[in-house]
Amino acid sequence: MSKSITRADLEALDRADPVRAFRNRFTLPEGVIYLDGNSLGAMPSATPNRVTEVVEAEWGRDLIRSWNIHGWIDIQKRIGAKIGRLIGAEEGETIVADSTSVNLFKMLSAALELRPDRRVIISERSNFPTDLYIAEGLIRQLKLGHGLRLVEADDIDGTIGDDVAVVMLTHVNYRTGRMHDMQRITELAHARGAIMLWDLAHSAGAVPVNVTSANVDFAVGCGYKYLNGGPGAPAFLYVARRHQAGITPVLSGWLGHASPFTFEPSYRPGEGIERLAVGAPPILSLTALEVGVDLMLEASIDALRTKSVAQTSVFDALVEQEIGHDVLSLVTPSAPEMRGSQLCYSYGDAWPVMRALIDRGVIGDFRAPDILRFGFTPLYVGFAELWDAVAILKNILADGTWDRPEYHARAKVT
Ligand SMILES: *Cc1c(COP(=O)(O)O)cnc(C)c1O
Repeated sequence: MSKSITRADLEALDRADPVRAFRNRFTLPEGVIYLDGNSLGAMPSATPNRVTEVVEAEWGRDLIRSWNIHGWIDIQKRIGAKIGRLIGAEEGETIVADSTSVNLFKMLSAALELRPDRRVIISERSNFPTDLYIAEGLIRQLKLGHGLRLVEADDIDGTIGDDVAVVMLTHVNYRTGRMHDMQRITELAHARGAIMLWDLAHSAGAVPVNVTSANVDFAVGCGYKYLNGGPGAPAFLYVARRHQAGITPVLSGWLGHASPFTFEPSYRPGEGIERLAVGAPPILSLTALEVGVDLMLEASIDALRTKSVAQTSVFDALVEQEIGHDVLSLVTPSAPEMRGSQLCYSYGDAWPVMRALIDRGVIGDFRAPDILRFGFTPLYVGFAELWDAVAILKNILADGTWDRPEYHARAKVT
């Protein structure tokens, strides 16, 4: 039997951790072990001052002149380009706009227009629901007889026939953490003549992604998870340059117009990726997002991935050692190359257990029906904390505190 893992082992990993210093660039409350940065990233310490500066000096003092003098009008492309570097896009292929849901609508409708003779959208049954709901809404609106074909993760290959217009998948599954082979599935979609749309909500800033080498057509992603952009932060989208001229945006708003300030009565799409902008961008939210993205760009995604793999591996080894996989069964693939930066365990009473855990300062989340989900954000989570988190979880399960009535009460947001 292999030697058991001790807290001292994890302290040694912390001392040797090359990205450890980033922890000091975040503000986290004392006594909290935050394993939920995959749902809402932590706050960079620089964010409050930067947002205050924009409120006071730009909005408060320079007022509407700020659109020009502080570059507000270019902010969507500027931050978009920065996120583009995180996902391997080229300059001018990414923009920050709207929410992930809205961007999915824009990208799906563009994909269907590019494949007018095909009627099927393929996605995964266990995809994040908003992705599926948006597809349903678009299909209803179009009334052209499109259908959404939902398949299991392992059955995707066999279901991409020549009736498929677009394959819409989330790269890292929000619930299970399973990661698809982006390159392989994109190739497959292309071989069958379909457009490939990836949702990178759990990938951007979490795992290395290269949309250029994978030859991806469209992608969308989230600003408030691993990019630490703040609650409800704007999302991003990517359109490969080869497709840009062929897209006439369905949400043809004035800021996607070729010349917004000539106020023409009829829409003409903007030059490149800017045609996917819609209305006036939320400058305060974008300001916060840019702080998070800048911080992420300072770190190397490869170093973060190395640490993330080490963290998920050691956390799961501790769960096995201290609690046992017979009690908490791992839903996430056990091979690190098959998963993103999270681990999920199924447990019958997952909801009250997670409430009890949060009460003890270990914040993860619950995903219906029975999943305990833990996100690992190497920028600000250390190794020794993982030891403490598992020790607290073990305690809660052993002493039955999770079964107290107050932990069973459901909240609106889980
Ligand atoms: C978090 C998440 C979203 C969020 O969509 P919003 O419209 O930005 O709230 C969408 N898709 C996936 C896969 C997600 O994980």
